[in-house]
Amino acid sequence: MAQKNTKACPECHQVFEIPTGNPGWWLKSNNEIKAKNKKALAILAYAPANGRDPDEKERKAWENELNADGVKNKDDIEKVKVKETRCPNHPESQLSDDWQGFTILLNPKRSEVARSLKIDTPGSYALKVRHQQ
Ligand SMILES: [Zn+2]
Repeated sequence: MAQKNTKACPECHQVFEIPTGNPGWWLKSNNEIKAKNKKALAILAYAPANGRDPDEKERKAWENELNADGVKNKDDIEKVKVKETRCPNHPESQLSDDWQGFTILLNPKRSEVARSLKIDTPGSYALKVRHQQ
């Protein structure tokens, strides 16, 4: 069984951790501001322009205000888009969660395993990786 939330590259066998959980919320028009929920994001977006946090009524009013693009602020809020994890050496390959045999290779040049897998970069690797079905 593979470890949870990890995937391996079928080409080079490198193992990657896949981020999970709530990635948070941001504004489509401004990805710099990020918060753990929509309400916190509204407060974060309101405060700099007004010099203080909004009360409940002001926050609701802000949500219906139009932003510079003519979009209601509440429609400008979206879930943070998390990029799919890819192997930097094989971005065209889909990472597989069907892998076995976790091994950390610190010194690939001196490792039999690294030689047989043709690995020359230190890192975390899987001994066996099957292509994702
Ligand atoms: Zn790879």
